[in-house]
Amino acid sequence: MKIICIGRNYAEHAQELGNEIPDEPVVFMKPKSALLQAHTPFYYPEFTNELNYECELVLRICKNGKYIQERHAANYFNGITVGIDFTARDIQNTCREKGLPWEKAKAFDNSAAIGKFLDLTPAVNLKNVNFSLKKNNETVQKGSSGKMIFSFEKIVSHISNYFSLNIGDIIFTGTPAGVGECVVGDELEAFMEDKSYLKIDIK
Ligand code: ZN
Repeated sequence: MKIICIGRNYAEHAQELGNEIPDEPVVFMKPKSALLQAHTPFYYPEFTNELNYECELVLRICKNGKYIQERHAANYFNGITVGIDFTARDIQNTCREKGLPWEKAKAFDNSAAIGKFLDLTPAVNLKNVNFSLKKNNETVQKGSSGKMIFSFEKIVSHISNYFSLNIGDIIFTGTPAGVGECVVGDELEAFMEDKSYLKIDIK
């Protein structure tokens, strides 16, 4: 499986990091080793002094495909959850300044945490999935799929022009405004609508 991530998919978040609104999806990847396994502790990585959380909606791919047309894209995913795209912001800023790749800042071990997937049914309105993140019981991020610059269908279609999608791949669809730091001892809890899907203690 592979983990594909979209950057700058919410206008307010692009602005808070001083980035332009993109005219096509910003795509990067994490290797399989980035996936934080369920019930595994998350340890603060020793190479960063500025670990950020980015809470995002995550899709599960259920069908192999490439060159997927946007109007057919909804057939290629069948589950949704919330996840955290952990980012070493200090390293990312250095990489950006030097024009270097982002992997050390974004794709390190355990940098992709995901909740249990909700199976998609017609009852789930993909155009308005609300999600949020609490840090130490206080809401720090709130988003809705309705505010994404690029829809789920657009993202799946765009990615598939470059990378074949395979059953079991997952897609992080971008974070809304409110990203921030976490430190050892913090507790992060991610919600879809009002249900908790993911809880992480930073150790
Ligand atoms: Zn992200």
